[in-house]
Amino acid sequence: MDTHEDTAYECHVCRRVLNSRRTLRKHLLAHEDKCRHICSYCNKAFKIRQTLKDYMKTDGLAVSVPVAKNEVEAM
Ligand SMILES: [Zn+2]
Ligand SMILES: [Zn+2]
Repeated sequence: MDTHEDTAYECHVCRRVLNSRRTLRKHLLAHEDKCRHICSYCNKAFKIRQTLKDYMKTDGLAVSVPVAKNEVEAM
């Protein structure tokens, strides 16, 4: 009997165990597609690169503009 099938194909991203190498590869692609483009300001992941670029324009601005709390006039 040939019982060398105890090799588990475990996904390193979500620890899910797949029954074949092919299934694991397909599964990993889904992960890559989900978080390929990540915002460097808040680590939010985007599927489409252009969406991330547009998002970072506004997100980057929001981060670089400080809230001037102390400049509120007292009186
Ligand atoms: Zn996974
Ligand atoms: Zn962000």
